[in-house]
Amino acid sequence: MLKSHNCGELRIKHIGQHVTLAGWVHRRRDLGGLIFIDLRDRDGITQVVFNPGLSKDTHMTATSLRSEYVIQVSGQVCRRPSQTENAKLPTGEIEVIAEGITIYNASKTPPFYINEEVEVDESLLLKYRYLHLRRQGMRDNMLLRHRVIKYMRDFLDQKGFIEIETPILIKSTPEGARDYVVPSRVHEGKFYALPQSPQQLKQLLMVSGFEKYYQIARCFRDEDLRADRQPEFTQLDLEMSFVEEEDILRLLEEMFTSLIEYIKPDVRVIKPFPRMSYVDVISRYGTDKPDIRFGLELKDISTAVADSQFIVFKTAVHADGVIKGICLPGCADYTHKQIDELTEIAKGLGAKGLITMAWPSGDAEKELTSQLKSVVTKYLSNENIKQIVQIFEAKPGDLILIVAGSTDIVNKVLDELRREMAKRLNLCDPSLMAFVFITDFPLFDWSEERNMWECMHHPFTAPHEEDINLLDSAPGKVRARHYDIVCNGYELSSGSIRIHTRQLQEKIFGILGYEKQEIEDKFGGFLEALDYGAPPHGGIAPGIDRFIMLLTNGKSIRDVIAFPKNQAAMDVMTDAPSSISDQQLKELHLKIMDAGNKGRSF
Ligand code: ASP
Repeated sequence: MLKSHNCGELRIKHIGQHVTLAGWVHRRRDLGGLIFIDLRDRDGITQVVFNPGLSKDTHMTATSLRSEYVIQVSGQVCRRPSQTENAKLPTGEIEVIAEGITIYNASKTPPFYINEEVEVDESLLLKYRYLHLRRQGMRDNMLLRHRVIKYMRDFLDQKGFIEIETPILIKSTPEGARDYVVPSRVHEGKFYALPQSPQQLKQLLMVSGFEKYYQIARCFRDEDLRADRQPEFTQLDLEMSFVEEEDILRLLEEMFTSLIEYIKPDVRVIKPFPRMSYVDVISRYGTDKPDIRFGLELKDISTAVADSQFIVFKTAVHADGVIKGICLPGCADYTHKQIDELTEIAKGLGAKGLITMAWPSGDAEKELTSQLKSVVTKYLSNENIKQIVQIFEAKPGDLILIVAGSTDIVNKVLDELRREMAKRLNLCDPSLMAFVFITDFPLFDWSEERNMWECMHHPFTAPHEEDINLLDSAPGKVRARHYDIVCNGYELSSGSIRIHTRQLQEKIFGILGYEKQEIEDKFGGFLEALDYGAPPHGGIAPGIDRFIMLLTNGKSIRDVIAFPKNQAAMDVMTDAPSSISDQQLKELHLKIMDAGNKGRSF
């Protein structure tokens, strides 16, 4: 090695030793005579002192050093003079008095500070990602990622899982997104798909008899990007034979809780993970990915106000809709402006309006109806109002938000308002990771757009045994053996017990609208495998990027991926995607039709 120690390693016990360090100039202070360099490597920072009285040449060379030069320094470890220790640095009690220096490479002035986490436009950080990765925050994230993945590997190894890689060039596997495709040079007009997940392959590994498989798998999905999405992302993909839902959920609960206790002991976890059925979670939170770090649960007052004369309530009830709301503690004095902002959010998501009921704290002697401030109270009976207050468990000082309309819109709006208010009221404990298991999803979802059934998870998910008889008569009522793990409002993983017989698998494909020939073309090989003694099996695939983002309390998965794409799915550092030569196009039997799109920049 070109160094004897790392920059975070030296302590009092090393005093007197002659050492060699190598790294980057983190900070340089020239105090006329003495030059101080904070030398940084992956491990930490050590202060190096250049004294002209000790070595003239070395000091001379040090005068030319600038930020991010790469150097090697040799010298003696000394105690820092008293009062000059730096308690913030693990190496803060010592310094290295330089005797020799080699400059390995100079550096241009970086486009942003490496030694300070000051905010910089993200496009610049992505263009110079290798410099951004030198910053401590990113370095810590990458080290954490390494430790998390290592923990998962060790944990699963101990549980008898084996790691098997599956190919990247495959035939399309439906996961509900668009495929990225790769044209074949050898087979004209044919394409590989990049895996949206190794779904069929991991199931085939169960048919092969491996029983417990996992892989740190890269998945590719061509879909519209959001803060927590990337065109390629990493899952801990796993599959087990001879299991039921409980086995998978218990394994995952043990893995996540022990991992967090070991790697981030300051993060709290609610144990055991609460479980909610899909029906229950939608009714209580309006979403299947609730953040349960805070309450503000949705309450349904449809029955309580069914007889009211208020036209908005009447219309909703007649149209088979619902009237639901949330109660905000201590918000009774919300201003018009604040309420207008919330109403805008509601309208933006399709609600006709937002009904508010404020209960100012004050004259408790007054009749409840005259205490509540709302445009609707005059249409409601005393009994109606009492029931509303009771259902919301409201207290003086609270503000109730109510939305009436179709179930989907009401739930969507209240989910958003609930999250928004939790932010405004500071209800999300940043040191808490609140996991929830969601179970009993419907197997199918009716698509108005396509006028057909679609699967909620993917077509390999098994229906509940006792619902199989509903497949023909009422597909919408069939519950799936599908489970999700949600954490702090993010869907962390989906999984299911799978179909393991050809007959049932073909039936599901049929309900999803696949023609016989299409089933054969798309899934013939997979279906044939089910004929050769496929065991009962199931699995799950937690998203690693999201999990690490939550562990770091971050906002974007881009911060925990070394080389992510930007929000337009581009790698601005290497400029991908980019055009290819006419020769390559020819070899791949491709012609670009819409040349106008070429080189478009975002
Ligand atoms: N392949 C599924 C997904 O990526 C997970 C699973 O069913 O195991 O969502």
